[in-house]
Amino acid sequence: MDFSLSEEQEILRKNIIRFAREVLNEGAAQRDREETFSRELWQKCAEIGLQGLPVPEEYGGSGLDPVSCAVALEAFGYGCHDGGLVFSLCAHLLSCVVPLWKFGNEEQKRRYLPPLCDGRMVGVHAMSEPGSGSDAFSLRTKANPDGRGFRINGTKTFISNGPVADLVIVFALTDQKKGYYGGVTAFLVESGSPGFQASRKFEKMGLRTAPLGELVFEDVFVDADAVLAGVGAGSTIFTHAMDWERALLFASHAGTMERLLDQAVEYARTRVQFGQPIGKFQAVSHPIADMKVRLEAARLLAYKAAWLLDRGKNLAIEAAAAKLFISESFVKGAFDTVQIHGGYGYMVEYEVERVLRDAVASTIYSGTSGMQRNIIARWLGL
Ligand SMILES: Cc1cc2nc3c(=O)[nH]c(=O)nc-3n(C[C@H](O)[C@H](O)[C@H](O)COP(=O)(O)OP(=O)(O)OC[C@H]3O[C@@H](n4cnc5c(N)ncnc54)[C@H](O)[C@@H]3O)c2cc1C
Repeated sequence: MDFSLSEEQEILRKNIIRFAREVLNEGAAQRDREETFSRELWQKCAEIGLQGLPVPEEYGGSGLDPVSCAVALEAFGYGCHDGGLVFSLCAHLLSCVVPLWKFGNEEQKRRYLPPLCDGRMVGVHAMSEPGSGSDAFSLRTKANPDGRGFRINGTKTFISNGPVADLVIVFALTDQKKGYYGGVTAFLVESGSPGFQASRKFEKMGLRTAPLGELVFEDVFVDADAVLAGVGAGSTIFTHAMDWERALLFASHAGTMERLLDQAVEYARTRVQFGQPIGKFQAVSHPIADMKVRLEAARLLAYKAAWLLDRGKNLAIEAAAAKLFISESFVKGAFDTVQIHGGYGYMVEYEVERVLRDAVASTIYSGTSGMQRNIIARWLGL
């Protein structure tokens, strides 16, 4: 077993960290305050290939294997202080670009992957509905056959990048009786389609630079060639997208956990109270030691899941374990870092309160912590 990064991966990591620090961080607090999604920074990320990391070069991507993608996204989460931008980009990449690349036919891939990789298009994944979140397959959005295609009706909610979407992978019922087992279909819908509306942008606790909203489909007509991987393939596509997301989006969070650790160590070394650096008090140093342990475990879980992806193996339990552990460790580490900074930690200027606000959502999206425990328990035969 070899835990070292290859020379290419080391270079990739360094380049992304340098890029993020030089280009993406300035003004992050202001964008957070004003809830601004920066299309300009999105474009800059595309210029270094972030939006198409694993996509083959012939479709405009960078052609990286999943473990190298984990390295890249971990570096992105480490170097980029704009957690909303990291999240937006990962959601686009892992829940729209990847399923399109994995399940699209040649024409769909040639048409959409280049603009999704080069920054011209923002992609979204629309599954959740007002009445169906954890129980995603109790969805109500329907796609009924109509001539050469389908008519889609329904409302999707909490959709990352929804307000700025150009291309939507939307999941709809095509056979209510079959449901999960072949009754759900994924469709590619362009945002300009008549009847489609990005109707509502939500105000959120964190990830404020990542726009999130509701999408309404009112008699939206799509041609039969907008079906992704065949009628009834929706559950396979959804599950596969979740595997990628749980492994690799959470690799980016491991990167941010490392930045928090650096910040906590630095502060504990330099802040003096009672005549000594606060890091000399075990009440301060032990939570930091625990952050280090959780970071190491988080990284191993994310890399193992990415390694399984690379080998095309079932990773349901490993992806759920990575997602569960990293998200909960991320929240705990962010909370502890705020505490270690005392009153300063509560101030916007120190940037740790923002990470805490951003981190909380990680225990909810890609399936809540409760649902990850359910998945793990089910695979254990419980
Ligand atoms: C920032 C953010 C981005 C998101 N992006 C997207 C996106 O791009 N696309 C998309 O489709 N969706 C997206 N979502 C939606 C997300 O997937 C759902 O919020 C999530 O699956 C939970 O669904 P819910 O909010 O309806 O909560 P519910 O399902 O109503 O759950 C409420 C609570 O009940 C618990 N619970 C429910 N059922 C069970 C059970 N069987 N066992 C144990 N506990 C249970 C949950 O764990 C949770 O604590 C996003 C959400 C957030 C916060």
